Amino acid sequence: MDLVWSNLRISVEEDVFLTTIMARKLKVPENSISGLRFLRRSLDARKKPHLAFVYTLQFSLNVPRPEGNRIMARVPGLKEAPIEVPVIWTKPSNTLIHRPVVIGAGPAGYFAALSLARKGYAPLVLERGDSVEERSLKVQEFWDKGKLDPESNVQFGEGGAGTFSDGKLTTRIQDRRISEVLETFVKHGAPSEILYLAKPHIGTDILKDVVKRIREEIVSLGGEVRFRAKVTGLKSSLGRLSKVVVNGEEEIPAETAILAIGHSARDVFKLLSDMNLTLEKKSFAIGLRIEHPQALINQSQYGVEEHPHIGAADYQLTYKDVRTGRGAYAFCMCPGGRVVAAASEEDGVVTNGMSGYARDTKIANSALVVTVGADDFPTAYPLAGLEFQRAWEHKAFIAGGSSYMAPAQRVVDFFERRVTDNFDLLPTYSPGIKPYNLHEVLPEVVGDVLERALRDFNGKIKGFTGKEATLTGIETRTSSPIRIARNAQGESLNLAGLYPTGEGAGYAGGITSAAVDGIRIAEFLMAQFAPIE
Ligand code: FAD
Repeated sequence: MDLVWSNLRISVEEDVFLTTIMARKLKVPENSISGLRFLRRSLDARKKPHLAFVYTLQFSLNVPRPEGNRIMARVPGLKEAPIEVPVIWTKPSNTLIHRPVVIGAGPAGYFAALSLARKGYAPLVLERGDSVEERSLKVQEFWDKGKLDPESNVQFGEGGAGTFSDGKLTTRIQDRRISEVLETFVKHGAPSEILYLAKPHIGTDILKDVVKRIREEIVSLGGEVRFRAKVTGLKSSLGRLSKVVVNGEEEIPAETAILAIGHSARDVFKLLSDMNLTLEKKSFAIGLRIEHPQALINQSQYGVEEHPHIGAADYQLTYKDVRTGRGAYAFCMCPGGRVVAAASEEDGVVTNGMSGYARDTKIANSALVVTVGADDFPTAYPLAGLEFQRAWEHKAFIAGGSSYMAPAQRVVDFFERRVTDNFDLLPTYSPGIKPYNLHEVLPEVVGDVLERALRDFNGKIKGFTGKEATLTGIETRTSSPIRIARNAQGESLNLAGLYPTGEGAGYAGGITSAAVDGIRIAEFLMAQFAPIE
């Protein structure tokens, strides 16, 4: 019989095989257990320093049914595995004349393209940046020398915004497509533990290879991926998409296009606004990156500075500011990582965080951000949020010395509003930092709320505002400032055949949810059209 065992708690100190422990608890011979699959593993650190892994497992138990029933009645958390019902796809009667175009090769675009390719639609993917191999060189050059390529950088290029990231795959959404996303990552080289860990992550080093192999699968199924192919125009006929314009010159006939451009494609938002497509302003959050010694975070979360069986600790922090009604929170926390320069436009400084699979730099970083909305923006124009981001990124650029260095300050000096003269922990941001009073590169209210949030967080994590805690700015690309409205069939309200998806369109917030939305939007397209015959 196939069983699921939930909430199985095992000390992190335990050094024997899991099946041995299971057999002991179930009182069955070890060889009656087979086909063990991890559905979930989380870490229980409530009784620090006594840490335990909490598992949900699926496995087959080879015992007579009456004995199996008795075991299920005796052992808490054990029940029969649900029977999985396959999803059936019916072919629509309309047939495409041209292959579907996918604009953007981030998680939303690539998973949309992969879904289409796997069903025989042979999509054409257009990506403004370079292949992940070329892009990595461009990004490194930016970090080393401050030479920005506005088309191929941390935001743009194959793999999308999350390629140089911690590769966290956690998401708050519940969706049947999540397992398809994780299984695809594993198929293409991600560690299989991401299928069951409560907080799965891949790391930049592995993610880059995974992205390349996803491209190879799309191509092997008849799809095409073109780099340095920036979509600069969309043409329509009788309210339906008819052509996609590439690099201002080439016109590709297309009656369907999936728009997966991410949250930093400001030129595309402008294009859509000029075409009078319905765009809605969206609140987002801005703030700074904070860094601490990883040992300080581990001590607070685990009760030990290091442990051989568990990785670097993370944290989640939220604060509600009663004076202003605004929320502040830790965002995109990267254990054992580094802060990166993540600009995509000239004359702007943008921070973000990344880490390798091993998370072993001994530095923890996270964004600390405060929500901002329409009332903070300079105008009522739908693109006002984007102008707001750009203005603050430019202030940070000037503060850093107009060379993509970032302004930075110790937290203790941020409280005193004085420029730091000596860092106890040197900020990891490259191409480098310039000491500066960070209140001057933030809207006044954001700086004030951050100060109160930091004091609150210090009560939750001891040493959070200690002398080693360092801030770098500015963090603005937390989510899209825009939502591109779509109808019940997944299309733009104003242009049939255009399917907005992912983070830039306002339907996702992270790698996994963007990938899920990409699959969802491909399903919408495939529900309407059969592939070219
Ligand atoms: P994107 O990934 O932004 O992809 C959009 C793609 O479209 C880009 O490749 C871009 O070049 C392309 N494009 C744009 N305009 C055009 C055009 N006109 N023509 C052709 N192509 C175009 N999320 C997590 O879940 N976990 C993390 O650990 C994490 N860390 C991050 C670290 C960093 C440094 C950054 C920047 C982001 C991180 N994120 C993380 C966020 C995550 O990357 C995004 O949520 C996700 O990538 C959104 O996916 P997307 O496909 O919607 O858009």
